[in-house]
Amino acid sequence: MLKLKNYINGELVAPVAGQYIGSYNPAVGAMHALLPDSDEQDVELAVQAALAAFPAWAATAAEKRGQLLLRLADLIDLHLNRLAEAEATDTGKPLSSAKTMDIPRASSNMRFYGTAIQHFASEAHYMAGTAINYTVRHPHGVVGCISPWNLPLYLFTWKIAPALAAGNCVVAKPSEVTPLTAYLLSELCQEAGLPPGVLNIVHGYGHKVGAAMVAHPKVPVISFTGGTKTGRSIAATAAPMFKKLSLELGGKNPNIVFADCNFEEAVVTSVRAAFANQGQICLCGSRIFVERSLYEQFKAAFVEKVNALVVGDPLQENTSQGAIVSEEHLQKVLSYIELAKAEGGTIVAGGEQVQVKGRCEKGWFVAPTVIEGLAHNCRTNTEEIFGPVVTLTPFDTEEEVLHYANCTDYGLSATIWTQDLTRAHRVAHQVHAGIIWVNTWLLRDLRTPFGGMKNSGVGREGGFEALRFFTEPQNVCIKL
Ligand code: NAD
Repeated sequence: MLKLKNYINGELVAPVAGQYIGSYNPAVGAMHALLPDSDEQDVELAVQAALAAFPAWAATAAEKRGQLLLRLADLIDLHLNRLAEAEATDTGKPLSSAKTMDIPRASSNMRFYGTAIQHFASEAHYMAGTAINYTVRHPHGVVGCISPWNLPLYLFTWKIAPALAAGNCVVAKPSEVTPLTAYLLSELCQEAGLPPGVLNIVHGYGHKVGAAMVAHPKVPVISFTGGTKTGRSIAATAAPMFKKLSLELGGKNPNIVFADCNFEEAVVTSVRAAFANQGQICLCGSRIFVERSLYEQFKAAFVEKVNALVVGDPLQENTSQGAIVSEEHLQKVLSYIELAKAEGGTIVAGGEQVQVKGRCEKGWFVAPTVIEGLAHNCRTNTEEIFGPVVTLTPFDTEEEVLHYANCTDYGLSATIWTQDLTRAHRVAHQVHAGIIWVNTWLLRDLRTPFGGMKNSGVGREGGFEALRFFTEPQNVCIKL
């Protein structure tokens, strides 16, 4: 069985304590690899390697740092098939999604920040005739990057790329649920010639490796993507140490459909927004609000398309819905379907576990599920399920739907469907979410600020925002 290693100081090494954790292929419900069950000793080695590498890396010209990231991007592209197969095996997502979304985006992240750093300027402020201020942006030193299981290499590289581009050395922890592509990336880092210690990847549990990174006095910056509950515990440790924090957390995103929408596009994209990656994307539109005059027509067309989704073996080309990432998460998703029924909801599609025939008969699959008849503020409609479960709710007025949209503690993203431009702007500005899409979903420009309001997070990633986060501004004021 494949035995993964940590990547510390440029070497692939076993964990100090010699312990391992099983990694499962959710489509077949069986263990397929072992990953290091690392602890604070491994984190310490990684931090020391990063500290030692930092002065030379920070002094390396931005152009050279960028070139290394571009080389990594090229290697990711070159190994697209191998990485996509690993991602599909580890997560249960369709191979087609890994090939067209996850892995291409990982190389885009490297390419984007390898070039963005060449254009990253800092500010100067002239005080008429008195003084000139200029701002220097220094890298922090060693930064910690912690990422989740839903888009493993995509989100791992989304943090590492800007951190490295800005001149930091990194200690990174992928999710213990999906460690495979991060391990393969460490091999690519060796091939690319990344200097030892610049990037260190420590595998293992969040409460051990992640917690040790967050508590480490020599790691002053933590960039975290994951659940809101975990974010809260990270903040509790990091705040008294005055660490700089970026928290990208959960979502319960509204998808608002007005009667004047482009109907066909709204239906097709709403299905994708609800069920892409089995609904396991923080940006999924899991609460669909439809203007009452369109409600029955939308429901009929939406449910028809949902029933046509193919739940099956992630490696088969016609599969649109793969497995749920773990047995534990499968049980969580199923428990929310039961909760929805208890809260008075009616299942209009799906609603149960699916047994896929053949190779995947022991896998963890759930039918894409559509529920109606729930109150806007019930638990099903306000808590993040993070699975293939979506609710449909009619509304009568703009004011009413804004109240529904804003009634959760989350505020990550929202989608608005209307042909009325004035209404699109008006509603967009009143939805409490960091990312608004009008007549589309998950259309991403990597230059834009990415992140959530309320319990969906603190800070923004993307574009120059991430480069600002991964640098410490220092103002120099010179009297004239
Ligand atoms: P999670 O919070 O359980 O784990 C995320 C990472 O944190 C993992 O690497 C985990 O090992 C680590 N971790 C766990 N406990 C820790 C601790 N005490 N200290 C430090 N690290 C710890 O989240 P998950 O289940 O892997 O991912 C799903 C969640 O991520 C969902 O809530 C989803 O909305 C969120 N998410 C958010 C975004 C975003 O950009 N806002 C993107 C993707 C996923």
